[in-house]
Amino acid sequence: MDTTTRDLFITGLKNAHAMENQALSIMRPQATRIESYPEVEAMLNRHISETEGQIQRLETILDSLDADRSALKDMALSVAGTFAAVGHTVAPDEILKNSMANFAFENYEIAAYKSLLALAEASGNPMALEGLEANLEEEIAMAEWLDSNIEAVTLQFAALKEAGETAKK
Ligand code: MG
Ligand code: FE
Repeated sequence: MDTTTRDLFITGLKNAHAMENQALSIMRPQATRIESYPEVEAMLNRHISETEGQIQRLETILDSLDADRSALKDMALSVAGTFAAVGHTVAPDEILKNSMANFAFENYEIAAYKSLLALAEASGNPMALEGLEANLEEEIAMAEWLDSNIEAVTLQFAALKEAGETAKK
């Protein structure tokens, strides 16, 4: 049971670890099938690399708290259900649906790190703040990029449609 704020913090870190693994399983397939959108592809690949670093930061923090990491695999399975509908579509308009789903996912991550930062402070673990801030900054940057790019991607999709192409060609 999570009886202390420290317990809540550790559970939150494990949830974030599962969330980041889910992020990888959403982004990696997307990045392999969007050749028609090179800017999106480049940002996805960049954020995949960042996400691998985020997982490292979370593991470093968990280790510094002497947290048991053995349950992390089970948690990855349970979080998969939360995002089952995100990013797995292969519909003709997948670039649009994925752009919207990715924006939702990044904002979920932003909320998760804000929550973890509050718990790090409240549980007296200031050593965790730097890593969590770094993760938060990357999520904010990705969310802002997706936010600023949705109109351009939509119009590019429409133009490709008019030209009789798909995202896979
Ligand atoms: Mg992330
Ligand atoms: Fe992210």
